[in-house]
Amino acid sequence: MDLHTLTTLHDVFDQLHGIQDWKITLDKLFVSLRGEFVFDNVAIYLVDPQTSSLEVAYARAVGRGKTAEADVAWGETFANEVFAKEKMLMQHPVPVPQETDRLLQAYLLGFPMYIGSRLEGVIVFIRFGGPEYSETHIRLASLQAYWAMALIERKALKEARSDMESVQRQMRLQDDFVSTISHELRTPLGFIKGYSTSLLRQDTSWDEGTQREFLTIIDEEADRLTKLIEDMLESARLESKTMQFKFSPVRLDGVIRDVAQRVTTLHSNLRVVFDIQPLEPISADSLRISQVFENLFSNAVKYAPGANIHIGMQMVDAELRISFADQGPGIAEAYLPFLFERFYRVPGVRTEAGTGLGLYICRQIILAHHGKIWVESVLGRGTTFFIELPAHPPV
Ligand code: ADP
Repeated sequence: MDLHTLTTLHDVFDQLHGIQDWKITLDKLFVSLRGEFVFDNVAIYLVDPQTSSLEVAYARAVGRGKTAEADVAWGETFANEVFAKEKMLMQHPVPVPQETDRLLQAYLLGFPMYIGSRLEGVIVFIRFGGPEYSETHIRLASLQAYWAMALIERKALKEARSDMESVQRQMRLQDDFVSTISHELRTPLGFIKGYSTSLLRQDTSWDEGTQREFLTIIDEEADRLTKLIEDMLESARLESKTMQFKFSPVRLDGVIRDVAQRVTTLHSNLRVVFDIQPLEPISADSLRISQVFENLFSNAVKYAPGANIHIGMQMVDAELRISFADQGPGIAEAYLPFLFERFYRVPGVRTEAGTGLGLYICRQIILAHHGKIWVESVLGRGTTFFIELPAHPPV
């Protein structure tokens, strides 16, 4: 090898080793070595694990005219041949006298690609109108093929590592979930057991008022347990992304008015003020979105009793913006970042029932709509929840 080629190779290695994206690295690699090895197109075909057939994973037109996409077809049959024979192949066109269209004169050079020791794909170089590949060109092409293999292997390893990290995170969450949940289940069960045992005691007789009081506690705690189990199942389905969403065009002003109607029937002193601009229907799961509104109403009733609720809705470009404000006691700033976490409840707030799952569920539902939800609050002034939903989520 001459000094010039060696220097070029060294410089290419030097330039490329730090680039993270495998496709950008390959682009640069092929362009950098064009002075040494000329070709028009290159395509990498990898085995699709689903179909077990070769699919184009990378294609570039480096040379004269023609787009890479159009030329992928040139290499497909040849790529399958290289794959089947598991060895480097060269294919020269049958010479046609006076053929002037060089695009009909494809010179192909293909190498099998191995990831680890498994045959996983093929790389094909194409030259239109020749010349034939020289010994040096074949070596250089082979070097590029090895390089491409290493890059693809690195990409596969990176993906595997990120999958593993996500599984580990999931396992940690699961651990937290189990310990929190057993505590959450024990509390209402403890009340139910304690008060029913007291009522059943033969050596004590309770007056009617006390019996009613105990039974009311048992009743409320059983409701709390039911709600907790429902929310837990819901949050587990949302967490594991197994909850089905049914998207259809809906007008969310109608949805929120329906929910408000239901809530005000139950809580007659609740005053809701609407400030809703004309809206177009947006693509959403109306059932799940009403669940979000129900949670916000139920929180306002619990944590801002007697306060007015102001609801704003407007379309800004292709986004629906919703604000849901109460004039309740508000939430201290230090607690705001945790509000949407699973099981989080603001310490020291006294209320009859709650699981700390409501806002978590809201957030997961909004995320499934590719939207955003956040909160702003001022102690003594009130709390406002904001939601932004794209009119046409990419689902
Ligand atoms: P839960 O209501 O079951 O406790 P959420 O996830 O719905 O759980 O709410 C988390 C916490 O956020 C609540 O425990 C409460 O302390 C606080 N919070 C929610 N909404 C409001 C509100 N409108 N005003 C004041 N605090 C609120």
